[in-house]
Amino acid sequence: MQDLKSSAIVVVGAGVTGLTTALVLRREGYENITIVAKHMPGDRALEYTSPWAAVNYAPVSEKGTAAEEWDRISWAEFWRLAHESPEAGIHIQKKISYCLTDSGKDKEVWFKDLMPNYRFLDGSELPQGVKWGKECDTFCIDPAIYLPYLKIRCISQGIQFKRASLSHIKEAFSLHRDSSGPATVVINCTGVLASKLGGVEDDNVVPVKGQLVLVRNECSGMFGMWGAKDWPAGESCYVMNRPFGGGTVLGGSSHQTWDPTVDMDLAKRIMQRAIEACPQLVKPGEGIEGLDVIHHSVGFRPVRKGGPRIEVEELPGNLKIVHNYGAGGFGYQSSWGMASAAVQKVNMAIRGSSEVCTLL
Ligand SMILES: Cc1cc2nc3c(=O)[nH]c(=O)nc-3n(C[C@H](O)[C@H](O)[C@H](O)COP(=O)(O)OP(=O)(O)OC[C@H]3O[C@@H](n4cnc5c(N)ncnc54)[C@H](O)[C@@H]3O)c2cc1C
Repeated sequence: MQDLKSSAIVVVGAGVTGLTTALVLRREGYENITIVAKHMPGDRALEYTSPWAAVNYAPVSEKGTAAEEWDRISWAEFWRLAHESPEAGIHIQKKISYCLTDSGKDKEVWFKDLMPNYRFLDGSELPQGVKWGKECDTFCIDPAIYLPYLKIRCISQGIQFKRASLSHIKEAFSLHRDSSGPATVVINCTGVLASKLGGVEDDNVVPVKGQLVLVRNECSGMFGMWGAKDWPAGESCYVMNRPFGGGTVLGGSSHQTWDPTVDMDLAKRIMQRAIEACPQLVKPGEGIEGLDVIHHSVGFRPVRKGGPRIEVEELPGNLKIVHNYGAGGFGYQSSWGMASAAVQKVNMAIRGSSEVCTLL
């Protein structure tokens, strides 16, 4: 068996997926890790999704699936960070969700026993027009704090960083910090650009645009509202109070497109709905003119038809790639679990397990 400590690993991507995967590799005992990326924390580029996320922890995974396991693992890690590492920018808040239709109320969700203070609201607690609602405590994460935090943690643990824009995934094998030979394994964490990177070009990965408004106005905790029949398709409503002065995020939308423009009509609807869900955002009697806008933004979720890809691929020449991309709208909340699953695949690839799938 090859020595885990000396195996040269290259992680392609420095979004939440790549950074978290590198940290889990380090925890597993790997010592020779290099992160190679076109964009790093601090950069702002539309094709780099992680800085544009909202972010809250609100599972969409079904009971009994691998995705449930990813979310459970991530919950435990966020819980520890929220309590022990304020510099990570993770805050536990109450989240109130309002539904404008009757559907979904009876759905059994696995996380009702995980999230503290999970309960359905009484009729007397529901605003006019709301059919049912629930509340729980959950995480709000500010990417502007969390991504640099992850990078600094990587640096302090001896993980190397290199800037490079790859045309083909094979180029990564020669980019680790030793020049003694090709990397043992490359981990592909390229997010939405997995659709374009040579040697990957995954047609199942599509950009799902989300639009946000960041404001200076404050509210206590997080709010969500969904299910309105008269809202245009793909539109929803959420309000998240980012920790440590990060502002309040208003969302949201989901549309499959690479169109990078901010839709100001949509922005107005987002702001209007945010005030309906959380009137305390503005002074009594004020409308959206009472919101103090920091900026409007869009980001592209790396949605993969069929779900995220976490698997080993072996290229001719014994080149092993572990893929970890396609987390869509849940890349933060599943990050630690997906990283653990990917690192298990790395272990298998290095130990020559029969689970390696050979693709030419
Ligand atoms: C509006 C919005 C709201 C969201 N809200 C939430 C939320 O509340 N909760 C949640 O969990 N998730 C949320 N998400 C989803 C989350 O942001 C994504 O799932 C996550 O950021 C994906 O991270 P990633 O690291 O896989 O990809 P990215 O952040 O895009 O990182 C990809 C990395 O790969 C590198 N790369 C790509 N191609 C190449 C190449 N050819 N050469 C070198 N490097 C390359 C890039 O430079 C970058 O470093 C939201 C997303 C949006 C847009």
